[in-house]
Amino acid sequence: MRTAFRRIGRALAACALAASTVLVGVVATGTAAQADGCYTWDRTLKQGTSGEDVRQLQIRLAGYPGYGAVLALDGAFGPATRSAVIRFQEAYGLSADGVAGTQTFNKIYALQDNDCTPVNFSYAEWNRCNSTWSGGAVSASTAKFNARVSMWKLQAMRKALGSDPLTISSAFRSHSCNSAVGGISTSRHLYGDGVDLVGSHSLCRLAQRARYHGFTNILGPGYSGHNDHTHLGATPSRSWKAPNCGI
Ligand code: ZN
Repeated sequence: MRTAFRRIGRALAACALAASTVLVGVVATGTAAQADGCYTWDRTLKQGTSGEDVRQLQIRLAGYPGYGAVLALDGAFGPATRSAVIRFQEAYGLSADGVAGTQTFNKIYALQDNDCTPVNFSYAEWNRCNSTWSGGAVSASTAKFNARVSMWKLQAMRKALGSDPLTISSAFRSHSCNSAVGGISTSRHLYGDGVDLVGSHSLCRLAQRARYHGFTNILGPGYSGHNDHTHLGATPSRSWKAPNCGI
């Protein structure tokens, strides 16, 4: 949001008083479209639309696919994206019409930092392994992208769990970082989307809730090596193992 305010500041300096008044009104009411430091949508999106702006929306809604589902990040606004929009709107008390317009985008702007991560998670806490995101199973840029998508899933899960903080004990790992902690050679931590949670909620509550937020990889209590954390990630096919939690 900081960049947005700088942009508005420059606009104020360059514009006449009448225009300034309009811009101040935008900030004060929050009802009109805002500029955002990460990404700004410039049209309403609904079923049938497609493009990069739809894909950007799908990334932010990756945590709202419904139980056991994964939202495709394909840039095509179909029924699954519409349902995800409705779930997001319901979660935040917006009018749930399945159309992504000003209200929905303004809520997303409020939820995202200028580096496009959601406000309650950061690249720094996700990667305590190295500063480059390299050395994993995929390119650094792919690992960082996968991390960002997992963060948006967690942001949705955090909201559903009452907005209490989620504590990350480990996320992205290079091969050497993964070996150092005894991670398996196929670990999702090597891909950037794997994340281990500990802390405020019970491990079973985390594992059970994760089923609603787009995580295909859920490993928790009762599964080998997972009695002290709940692991979430994005395997190509579903792998849910937390037998002590009924999963
Ligand atoms: Zn893990």
